[in-house]
Amino acid sequence: MKNIAVLTSGGDAPGMNACIRAVVKMCLHYGITPYGITDGYQGMITGMFHKMTYRSVDNIIYRGGTVLGTARSEEFRTAEGRSKAAAQLEKHGIDGLVVIGGDGSFTGATLLSKETGIPVIGIPATIDNDIAGTDHTIGYDTALNTVVDAVDKIRDTASSHHRIFFVEVMGRDAGFIALNAAMASGAEAALIPEEVTDIPELVQQIKDQNRGKRSSIIIVAEGDDGGGALQIMEKVRPFLATYELRHSILGHIQRGGVPSAFDRILATRMGAMAVELLREGEHDLMIGANGDQLVTHSIRFGIQQTPVLDRSKLDLLKDLRTKA
Ligand code: ATP
Repeated sequence: MKNIAVLTSGGDAPGMNACIRAVVKMCLHYGITPYGITDGYQGMITGMFHKMTYRSVDNIIYRGGTVLGTARSEEFRTAEGRSKAAAQLEKHGIDGLVVIGGDGSFTGATLLSKETGIPVIGIPATIDNDIAGTDHTIGYDTALNTVVDAVDKIRDTASSHHRIFFVEVMGRDAGFIALNAAMASGAEAALIPEEVTDIPELVQQIKDQNRGKRSSIIIVAEGDDGGGALQIMEKVRPFLATYELRHSILGHIQRGGVPSAFDRILATRMGAMAVELLREGEHDLMIGANGDQLVTHSIRFGIQQTPVLDRSKLDLLKDLRTKA
């Protein structure tokens, strides 16, 4: 193995830089030349390969986003696009590829590997935590902490004004952020895609909880079946005429920011392991975290399986509700 390329793809996530740094430094440790590819698969197609050195990854471990840039490439979804990408890999003599991204990026990686034979290792990085085979994806812990911090601030104003706040957080298909943020911030409920939202029950819950209580916070995952925070608020409004209702959409603040220590450590260990795996001749694997252990699965497993939310947390949240 002489040349290993690394790219970030899909949505950016805090900790991607720590991961890039680990890949680059491990390559250099073993005398392998690391290449960074700018802007994910789109950069691969257009030949944006850069040799990386220790200097390239100086002082990036604490920075959010990705210094390599990321992109969503429509062209890479086509066989023609991937054959252009393959030609660039060959031109630069790349013998192994590390893909840091979400399940879409993993799908692209398996197709590329199948079509070209290039060994690929996938590292799960997405704030939504929606990849099977790992307890944590890179970026999730930071995003969760960002959400909890924002909800704490919203609670200050909610309780000062006796308001009920519907706070929308990321999670198109998975409720990890919503459920865990609700638990960590003491919110009254989490509305998540994995569970059908019952509006009459929610109305009753809000009425019960607000006897003598100064505020309520309901966390809504953007992909909830009942709609986002605004839609849910409008659905309950006719039944809660005497209550002051507000909504807040946290949006892109959840993506950015300084990665947490947890994410930096996870990203560093996964990045280093990816280089080790390629050196050992492994391919088409994703790295996952099982507790504190790093494990591997086929990339297909990460794509095809649905990540499992711990429903006991949902039950616990319900048990902890204020009763009338
Ligand atoms: P996030 O979870 O943050 O959205 P992601 O990796 O799932 O990350 P996507 O936009 O789904 O993000 O995928 C990233 C890129 O991977 C796409 O822009 C595309 O280039 C490639 N990709 C995704 N799905 C496929 C596919 N079915 N075939 C080929 N390439 C794909």
